[in-house]
Amino acid sequence: MAEPWTKEELAGHLANLIELQRIDSELHTADKRLAKIPDKERAARAGLDAEEARLAAMEERSAEEERLRRECESEIRQCEEMIREQESQLYRAKITQREYDIIGERVKALRIQIGEIEDRELALLDQAEHHSEELKGLRSSVDNLRRETADELKRLADWRRELESTMEVLRRDRPRFADALPLTILDRYRTLLQRHPDSAVVRVIDSQCSGCRMLLVSQTLLSINLGEHLTFCEHCGRFLVSESTGAGSGQG
Ligand SMILES: [Zn+2]
Repeated sequence: MAEPWTKEELAGHLANLIELQRIDSELHTADKRLAKIPDKERAARAGLDAEEARLAAMEERSAEEERLRRECESEIRQCEEMIREQESQLYRAKITQREYDIIGERVKALRIQIGEIEDRELALLDQAEHHSEELKGLRSSVDNLRRETADELKRLADWRRELESTMEVLRRDRPRFADALPLTILDRYRTLLQRHPDSAVVRVIDSQCSGCRMLLVSQTLLSINLGEHLTFCEHCGRFLVSESTGAGSGQG
């Protein structure tokens, strides 16, 4: 197969091809990393969301306990009011012994009721004390988590900007190498790229194709050394270049 290029032109094409592959490979890597960022952001927020929900539930529980405690106090006030009402009847002018006893029983029952409510309130107070410690701990851990999450989101945003600017530079540089290549090489490169995303062009190292690691026949090795023709791996079809190709700058 004879190519319409001189040995020097071919060397330039191969150098450009290697640069093009480097750019495409870096673009591919940056794009994959960029695609992972939204998931990482969601994961960072999910941890905080869960803790904030736990805190909200605990705050709600404390508010409910406080409400129950106020309810106890209001019940106690009502009972005390009823006691005063009963006792005021004792000072009426005419009161029979039987009425006196009934009032006495009622007051006694109300005092027992107050005692029961007070027990309930005390238990609620104990609980509130215990829960307020828990709440304090959770509030401070949620505060820390908020800071950590904000830091993580900022780090991810910085990373995104960095990747985007890297990709912008790569996309700007790409045509310099792609446009300099003959279409026949570019087409073959594009086809190979689908099968070997980061290694359409590989070097020959120790008589092996560094893409598929197979030993190359002597004719292929000779072709590489002569540098007069495009050479492909007889096993995987990748572009082969000698170990030293692309060390300098390609032709622009
Ligand atoms: Zn190969």
